[in-house]
Amino acid sequence: MQLESMYQEIILDHYRRPHHAGLREPYDAQVHHVNPTCGDEVTLRVTLKDAGGEPAIADISYEALGCSISQASTSVMTDMIIGKTVSEGMQASAEFLRLMQSRGEGEPDEDLLGDAVAFEGVSRYPARIKCALLGWMAWKDATARALDGLGQDQSSGE
Ligand code: ZN
Repeated sequence: MQLESMYQEIILDHYRRPHHAGLREPYDAQVHHVNPTCGDEVTLRVTLKDAGGEPAIADISYEALGCSISQASTSVMTDMIIGKTVSEGMQASAEFLRLMQSRGEGEPDEDLLGDAVAFEGVSRYPARIKCALLGWMAWKDATARALDGLGQDQSSGE
């Protein structure tokens, strides 16, 4: 399938030349997440900034080890959400999670997901879903810690 191989290309491209890779300073929080089923690991740092009274993502830097899916997914994530507000990042994260839970039958929102639509095929392989989500989970964790550190009230009301 042509679409499939194009998606494969996107994943391999990010794996070979990961975007925003490396650990940078300064940062507001750092986390280390592991996906034991595959052996993937990521150390991830977030730097937040103020965007008109709302927290926004100034930078995400990381060191990823493991399979191509986990590394490529983290790279794609940084492209998608650096520069966005935290709430936009959370929205993208929810959309990506929905795609991963679609069992290959999702209709991904390409405007919102960009290159992340390439991971659609992964949703058919339950064992790999955790690989694709590792970077996102690490980002959410690091961001929650960073927001705590900044003393901002992010209590999750409706
Ligand atoms: Zn993996």
